[in-house]
Amino acid sequence: MTEIAAEILRELHRFHRQQSDLKYRLESGPRQVAASQKAAKLAEQHLGELQDTWKKMRLQSEEQQSQLRYRESEVQKLQEKLNGAKTNTEFGVFKNQIAAAKQANAVLEDEILEKLERLDQLQGQIQAAEALVVQRQQELADTRERVEQKRPLLERELTRVAEGLREMERTLPADFKSDYQRLVRAHGPDSLAPVEGETCGNCNTLLSPQVMNLLFLSRAVFCKSCGSVLYLPEDRLPS
Ligand SMILES: [Zn+2]
Repeated sequence: MTEIAAEILRELHRFHRQQSDLKYRLESGPRQVAASQKAAKLAEQHLGELQDTWKKMRLQSEEQQSQLRYRESEVQKLQEKLNGAKTNTEFGVFKNQIAAAKQANAVLEDEILEKLERLDQLQGQIQAAEALVVQRQQELADTRERVEQKRPLLERELTRVAEGLREMERTLPADFKSDYQRLVRAHGPDSLAPVEGETCGNCNTLLSPQVMNLLFLSRAVFCKSCGSVLYLPEDRLPS
């Protein structure tokens, strides 16, 4: 059974975790930018929808207003006819027509006022939506800048860690190395696990006394349950 110092395995695991953390942070940058882009786009869509609604309602309102002007001129004409009425019957007919037309106009006026009020409300919502678009675009610019600033630093750090890891892997015993490399390809940082108490730190399986003995003898041992390379933590160095 291959002999390998716990110290080396601990260091290997540390490198793997650092590498995985750095990769995650590098990949999270574009994800953050994409999320900011999506939020900005949503704000723009919302603004566009409000503007469309406003335009349609404004058009309807203008149509109703021109309709009202026309109807009022009709009332005016009836008024003239009323003034020129020759008989009481004629007078009565025009009077009724005028009353009915005025009533209809009052309903239309109410509708127009209601629309104007709604247009005012929409205007307020549009202003708020415009402010949100500006805010989201600023957030997007900030996110892009932050991600771009961090990236070279993370990339340098990743290169350093990857080099450290490769250097360390070069020193591994050949018969252990192939198993280790296969594990790393499949499980990444989880291919190594510290012993916690008497259990595997990765899958919590209880380790047999024989396994514990081998670990104290600095032997390369794999967890029977999850396959991880087991190692003793710093405070439990083999005597
Ligand atoms: Zn395990």
